[in-house]
Amino acid sequence: MKPQKSKKVIYLDNAATTPLAPEVLLVMQPFFTKEYGNPSSLYSLGVHASTALEVARKEVADVLKCRAKEIVFTAGATESINLAVLGYCRSVRTSAFTPHVITTAIEHEAVLECCKQLETEGFSVTYLPVSKDGLVDPKEFKKALRPETVFASIMYANNEVGSIQPIFQISRILRHANQDRRQAGKHEVVLHSDAAQAAGYLDINVQKLSVDMLSINGSKVYGPKQTGCLFVREGIGLQPIIFGGGQERGLRSGTQNVAGFVGFARALKVAENAKQKELKRVTALRDWFVAQLEKKFGATLNGPDDRKLHLQEARRRMPNNLHMSFPGVEGEALMLYLDAWNIAVSTGSACAEAGDKPSHVLTAIGNAEPESAIRYTLGRYTLKTDLLYVLKVLDHILPLLRNMKKLE
Ligand SMILES: *Cc1c(COP(=O)(O)O)cnc(C)c1O
Repeated sequence: MKPQKSKKVIYLDNAATTPLAPEVLLVMQPFFTKEYGNPSSLYSLGVHASTALEVARKEVADVLKCRAKEIVFTAGATESINLAVLGYCRSVRTSAFTPHVITTAIEHEAVLECCKQLETEGFSVTYLPVSKDGLVDPKEFKKALRPETVFASIMYANNEVGSIQPIFQISRILRHANQDRRQAGKHEVVLHSDAAQAAGYLDINVQKLSVDMLSINGSKVYGPKQTGCLFVREGIGLQPIIFGGGQERGLRSGTQNVAGFVGFARALKVAENAKQKELKRVTALRDWFVAQLEKKFGATLNGPDDRKLHLQEARRRMPNNLHMSFPGVEGEALMLYLDAWNIAVSTGSACAEAGDKPSHVLTAIGNAEPESAIRYTLGRYTLKTDLLYVLKVLDHILPLLRNMKKLE
């Protein structure tokens, strides 16, 4: 039986971006109209803005468990990553040796493209391979360390298959290595992590993570787009990548997006407070949905499967991520058909332009059928009734798509 088309959008692409939470919009509003001062101005209107900005900075710092002065506000994770990778590496550029950088093959394009840029600037870069589950092996990381290594960027959670990297183990390896390096008078290795997908679900306490820099953004935690921050541990020197009036301790010139950062801080705080509850709710919903897709449509899960996890084991997959292959179906066609039913999903990675090149993440995990993959990412506003509707629609359109494919 043909289902009835949903009037509201069933939004299952929360890894691409999230809607703005109503309570976040509310706290932003005054800064568009009444409180429009430049935070660098010295009269009252400016002071109101700079006070709001500093309250926001403190709120973000409280979530990350760092000092307010260790937070640099940016226009999103891409900019934070550029500042971390280019800003740090350029500050240690030396003619004494070829500085070495470690990253992974499955990073977001922001990290990969910065690393490619570094290669043109005389750096050498190791792109660590990952397992078929999309996980870096800490032992491989340890082996990749060289005397010339100055910097490593390892993502916290992958945006396509949702794999959670062993950041805690990697930072522990680095702590020990850096101790030896300090004693030997050698350059220490600075660790950055791209946590754009992790915030709101995983622990982003930078002391526990023991990272030197961390990138997060507002647009993935129900905050405004083009907002985010870079945590920079005190003592880490960065070169700016944007020059001008010297805002953000000289690291990010330009009049601050006061409304945006106030919204970002509120969004992050709300997400952090809801974290444990959401983690449980979304995991249960996801596991149920995966099982339905497997049973009803023969779909297979790409990336780690946490349903077989023992109690004491750490999560290896983002609770909101389902990356599924539907054998005999073109992922792009399925996405477009679902759109016609008012269901928004992604074909693997939403960040890449539509094109024929298979995703670098699916290539790295050795996925044999990248073109039949679809990524569903659940979120705060996803309900079980939404997923029941998706199952009904799939029941209707998958046979059509499979027949079409056979006729080709
Ligand atoms: C979304 C995302 C980014 C880029 O964030 P923007 O705020 O869009 O610049 C970087 N890394 C990961 C893992 C992401 O998911």
